[in-house]
Amino acid sequence: MTATPAHRPAAPGPDPALVERARDLVAAMTLEEKASLCSGRNFWSTKPVDRLAVPSITVTDGPHGLRLQVAEADHLGINESVPATCFPTAATLGSTWDPELLEQVGAALGIETAANDVAVLLGPGTNIKRSPLCGRNFEYFSEDPLLSGAASTALINGIQSKGVGTSLKHYAANNQETDRMRVDAQIDERTLREIYLPAFEAAVRDAQPWTIMCSYNRINGVYASQNPWLLTQVLRDEWGFEGLVVSDWGAVDQRILAVAAGLDLEMPASGGRTDAQIVEAVRAGELDEAVVDLAALRAVVLALRAQNEVAAAITTFDAEAHNALARKVASEGAVLLRNEDKQGAPTLPLDAATFNADNPLVVIGEFARTPRYQGAGSSQINPTILTSALDALTDALGDGALLFTPGFHLAEATATQEADGTSARSAADLIEAAVAAAKDRTAVLFLGLPAKDESEGYDRVHMEVPATQIDLLRAVAEVASRTVVVLANGSAVTVEHWEDVTDALLECWLGGQASGGAVADLLLGVSAPGGRLAESIPVDIAHLPAQLNFPGGGSVVRYGEGIFVGYRGMDAMKAPTAHPFGSGLTYTTFTIDEVDAPASIDVCGSADGDVVGAVRARVTNTGTREGAEVVQLYVGRAGQSEIERAPRALAAFEKVRLAPGESRVVELPLTRRCLSHWDVANGAWMVEGGAWTLWVGEHSRDDSRAVEVEVIAEVIVPPLTVDSTLGEWLEHPRGCAMIHEVAPGIAAMAEDPGLGEIMKGIPLVRLAVFPSSTLPVTDIPALVERANS
Ligand code: BGC
Repeated sequence: MTATPAHRPAAPGPDPALVERARDLVAAMTLEEKASLCSGRNFWSTKPVDRLAVPSITVTDGPHGLRLQVAEADHLGINESVPATCFPTAATLGSTWDPELLEQVGAALGIETAANDVAVLLGPGTNIKRSPLCGRNFEYFSEDPLLSGAASTALINGIQSKGVGTSLKHYAANNQETDRMRVDAQIDERTLREIYLPAFEAAVRDAQPWTIMCSYNRINGVYASQNPWLLTQVLRDEWGFEGLVVSDWGAVDQRILAVAAGLDLEMPASGGRTDAQIVEAVRAGELDEAVVDLAALRAVVLALRAQNEVAAAITTFDAEAHNALARKVASEGAVLLRNEDKQGAPTLPLDAATFNADNPLVVIGEFARTPRYQGAGSSQINPTILTSALDALTDALGDGALLFTPGFHLAEATATQEADGTSARSAADLIEAAVAAAKDRTAVLFLGLPAKDESEGYDRVHMEVPATQIDLLRAVAEVASRTVVVLANGSAVTVEHWEDVTDALLECWLGGQASGGAVADLLLGVSAPGGRLAESIPVDIAHLPAQLNFPGGGSVVRYGEGIFVGYRGMDAMKAPTAHPFGSGLTYTTFTIDEVDAPASIDVCGSADGDVVGAVRARVTNTGTREGAEVVQLYVGRAGQSEIERAPRALAAFEKVRLAPGESRVVELPLTRRCLSHWDVANGAWMVEGGAWTLWVGEHSRDDSRAVEVEVIAEVIVPPLTVDSTLGEWLEHPRGCAMIHEVAPGIAAMAEDPGLGEIMKGIPLVRLAVFPSSTLPVTDIPALVERANS
């Protein structure tokens, strides 16, 4: 499936007839009843208005499974929830680069939500991975806004197709967990518009989530929960959001400011305290009752939407089928980072037939037995079925053909460890046992991050896999005939300083409850790795400009790197990468050729989001087995831009599955938005005309197929201000003539062979105060207005 931003007609919002019904209901309510709808009844449900038969609805986490708590409630993943399929986390989902598959995951999530009588699943999370250290990156898709937008759109469409709602979160700029409830994310508007908002924008325009959840943090000094620019101007007036805005749990600081800014529903319950504040503010004339009417209307619309036939017809779900889907998706999101030839053939897949009692497959690492498949916090799911890779491999190979040894301790001791006494063994003993088992055999090491490293509520402090695991790997690799590493982690880890001792390296992220089965499938070639990196793996975290200010301090984080996030930053710094964004191997190979792009693209007169051109390329499976390739289109201006821009940016992609020898021509649409930058002076998306470069390739650093194209665009005219320089006046189409007319002496200064350049850099108001000036300073505001009109 091809993904490009905002080129489809806007997704439909709530049914107009239902909105009319809701309007009548709100009209019949007292002020107290309307205010009561502005906060929750308890932890997970909204208040009813029994008198008018407005029902209470239940909402719950999210995002990659249902965390429905029937006893003790909490928002940090502490108490039990009902069994539900733990699908792969967003880290894996993003790496599939497969919106169609994600729509299927969404549909399954929607079924489980409806079957449990839950109206809204609190997800997906679509924040950008500004830093690999964000503790919650496993809940987010990518460092790239286009990919994140495509993934969230697909999931929302899938979930909502089952008559239940979603809550797109955390809007916005919640890119770290450190101090998340107070931190002020200081971000310039262009960066917000180009990096941190587009994934939300795409999902709102293309999928209309029933709700959107504001984040805890402040943005440029204002809490997201009470930010009118964010919650009303951008979200509703510009993007056309028609749903309800809900707070993150406990994110409301000042309820009156929040409701006025567009925060409809405060969660969880406030014990009626903030409802009373709303009533009081209206009575005191401090809050317009129309604002409360609107919030109540959105709450009633949501409650009525939840009473639909599609969801009501769903009462059960097929746990086995959903587990099988989770297993497939975990394979599709696994990224093969390395696969060296050994004895004339690639290390992976392994041939199951070669393992037996005399030559067992040696499985090393506690994660094989005690899988890490999800992260900590509010997204924690109680899985319906949980299969470890050890069990799945044992099933596939037979008991005698496999030898397991734990290799290292988990940070937290588990019952299994205690039971077999491994917790009593020292790290050195465990390594020694692993080395003895692996000698002259094929060893698969299950390594990764300890569970405590990745959680909601705090960030990591480094990108490293624990040193004991690397010691184990080096020792095993010395003696094993083949060394394969399978990684479990929710966000990128550094691999550069140890991957060369491996023969194959498979990044499986946090792949959900069926990841054990998926790993067995991948290792034995039952399936092939379908993933590509949705986040760069740097050689060194210091190569990411964002790290200069992550996570900030004193409750402030300044996004000084601007748009240079992830590969955009590393490309701009010409930094090496261990594995570039978009890269990944599989068990077959592909060629991409016959790239066909227009020589010129005329965007004049097109609207933001329109498709303005297309690039075609032929992709061929040149290997011996079926596999999926992700053809990626990047755009850039190779040093010719007048504005700061990333050397290249993802503009479109398509995942194609091909049989051996099969070819297909893919068509990658180019939207006007992909060529646009946010022009702060004009407050609009603008396209720079001139020479552009398009790259069609396998990843962000694949520059083997560069195509030059001439973009014809409207001339960008920066509006003049009272501070504009003489040079800016002279470059302005109307301003130039005006200056020559009203102040020829000043205009002539620019012609001076010696001083002209200096003069052009001086604001007109400053030149106008010179004694020789014929232009009164007081005339300048009127001139500015005329020039801009
Ligand atoms: C999280 C949200 C979650 C909510 C409810 C908050 O702590 O940030 O993502 O949906 O709790 O559990």
